[in-house]
Amino acid sequence: MSSLVNSLINKNLIPLKPYESARRLYSGGQDWLNANESPFSNDYDVDSSHFNRYPSCQPSEVIGNYARYAGVSTDQLIVTRGADEGIELLIRTFCTPGEDSILICPPTYGMYAISAQTCDIGVKTVPLNDDFSLDVEGICSTDNVKVVFICAPNNPTGTPVAKTQVETVLNHFANTALVVIDEAYIEFDAASSWVKALADYPNLVILRTLSKAFALAGLRCGFTLANDDVVAALMKVIAPYPIPEPVAQIAAAALSEENIARLNDQVSVINAEKQRLTEALGNIDEFTLVGDTKANFVLFRYAQSTELMAYLVSKGMLIRDQSKQVNLQHCLRVTVGSPEQNDRLLGLIHEFRSQTGAAK
Ligand SMILES: *Cc1c(COP(=O)(O)O)cnc(C)c1O
Repeated sequence: MSSLVNSLINKNLIPLKPYESARRLYSGGQDWLNANESPFSNDYDVDSSHFNRYPSCQPSEVIGNYARYAGVSTDQLIVTRGADEGIELLIRTFCTPGEDSILICPPTYGMYAISAQTCDIGVKTVPLNDDFSLDVEGICSTDNVKVVFICAPNNPTGTPVAKTQVETVLNHFANTALVVIDEAYIEFDAASSWVKALADYPNLVILRTLSKAFALAGLRCGFTLANDDVVAALMKVIAPYPIPEPVAQIAAAALSEENIARLNDQVSVINAEKQRLTEALGNIDEFTLVGDTKANFVLFRYAQSTELMAYLVSKGMLIRDQSKQVNLQHCLRVTVGSPEQNDRLLGLIHEFRSQTGAAK
């Protein structure tokens, strides 16, 4: 860094490195099973006749369709540039730089901490218990927290979070902090959504995305669901034109009743493949399945995870190394792909094991 930049840059940014997203780590490859994307790619038409105009801040068709899909009223949600922007908006709206903190429960999704750090907000960590349940006591004895992030189903462990645990946390922070339930994978575990509890908890916030089950990671479109006063606060901070017009058109179409039926069909296919992949990986002697499979990925532990990862990368098969996360030593995460991709992955794992003499 030049000395000028070094002297000008915000001090909290000096130790930070750009987030190692799946796509930044490996730009090549042929099979991408590393970012929990959908294997389906669906067609959409776009009408360019108004591209000379700025888009609406909160396109009403997108808001209306998502509100119907999620079962909330239209003043209980905000559409953002991915759920990631929702995370950042929550932090920027409710945390004061240099003073406040968020609370996270690792191993979990990386962007909560990254967003906080870029905003000079503290990050308090209360690791999950050994069975990946919440350490509720630890969470409730942490003070000076403004936003608590709970990912359910959790990425990368695929575990659900018990209702009573979330209730205890919501009640404990009723007057002091927002409790954000990140439901990025909720379509794979639909019965567990917290949406219906919004009326009971003024401090409950729910994150959603079109990037996973909806098969639109390239669109960058997510939603934050909350009570209307929380939504009104976020509206003060969001950019004037956060949702590009083509994104709004495609999101609205993806949320039509017909396309939600298609989404449900695709989720069924992914769940069936997940079952098959889980059994196949679980049957490999040296592999141990870790966590649960409530989302669209499978996590496993393997003593030779580093070597297997390198082998798969050399074959263009990209999965995600989670071994640097708390309690996930030697763990790899595989996104459920198409049947062909899953077969290719299993074949490559078999090849690796026979080359290293592990397979009998
Ligand atoms: C993928 C993911 C997100 C990000 O969603 P975008 O809408 O693509 O920004 C948020 N939370 C979790 C837990 C995720 O896995």
